[in-house]
Amino acid sequence: FEKLKASLEKTRKSIFEGLGKLLKGKKIDQELLEQLEEKLIMADVGYETTQEILQKLEKENTEDALETLKKVLVEILSNGNQLVVPNAKPFVIMVVGVNGTGKTTSVAKLGAYFQNLGKTVVLAAADTFRAAAIEQLQEWGKRINCTVIAHSEGADPAAVAFDAVNHAKAKEKDVVIIDTAGRLHTKKNLMEELRKIHRVVGKVVENAPHEVLLVIDATTGQNGLVQAKVFKEMVNITGIILTKLDGTAKGGIALAIKKELGVPIKFIGVGESLEDFKPFDPTLFVEALLE
Ligand code: GDP
Repeated sequence: FEKLKASLEKTRKSIFEGLGKLLKGKKIDQELLEQLEEKLIMADVGYETTQEILQKLEKENTEDALETLKKVLVEILSNGNQLVVPNAKPFVIMVVGVNGTGKTTSVAKLGAYFQNLGKTVVLAAADTFRAAAIEQLQEWGKRINCTVIAHSEGADPAAVAFDAVNHAKAKEKDVVIIDTAGRLHTKKNLMEELRKIHRVVGKVVENAPHEVLLVIDATTGQNGLVQAKVFKEMVNITGIILTKLDGTAKGGIALAIKKELGVPIKFIGVGESLEDFKPFDPTLFVEALLE
């Protein structure tokens, strides 16, 4: 908890600071709501989501505005945050998102996360568009000591994913995590590519991919939300990995993402190293912001 609090320091200090004092033990009135509105908008909570929070607060009209706010925020962020426990074997996860958001790093962090749960992991380098992306994943594979299935640059990404899932099946590995391309400027091609990967892995393992996680960079704020909407049209996203929460004063974007996309946040990235990656816990997150 202390670590989470520290990594949300920027958001806490610049925006939520003073909010606890402002609201604690206070009754909700118009002036308070206006002050809160400004803070929430500044934290990138988004206009619509902010209005809904204010309405809920007004309706509750309790003696302690702080506790009510916490309750309302946790409510928005909750539902479906837990990653389904992998009972399928192999459990297949596709990771999608725009380049630079922290996708490849998150694939490795997710791999390490499953290894810590005692699972064996295979990574698939299905971003074949950039040689550097393939190399980067191979480097991570060495560091966390797991198999990386890769073809050469320009190869068919679906073929890489297909091989990875088949390899995992043959070697009885538990989890396959597929890194994918993120060049949004060729949207139509990317969509076809992602859908093909989706289709092909489903032919090897029933119901695969079991999760499609979209990586969003918290520092890009509302822009990240726009990207997310584009990806949501391309493939069926089952969860969000929200990265770089340590590097932004606008951690409120988490609320806008959940509210406006209707997709749960499943993991957060709070730094560059492997340990800086946590399953998302709405209660802890809200406590860390508002303490
Ligand atoms: P990709 O292009 O989306 O695959 O992005 P990368 O995985 O290469 O990451 C881009 C940069 O963001 C790298 O320098 C990462 O170390 C950094 N990064 C990834 N996740 C986080 C995070 O949670 N916090 C911080 N501070 N940096 C991150």
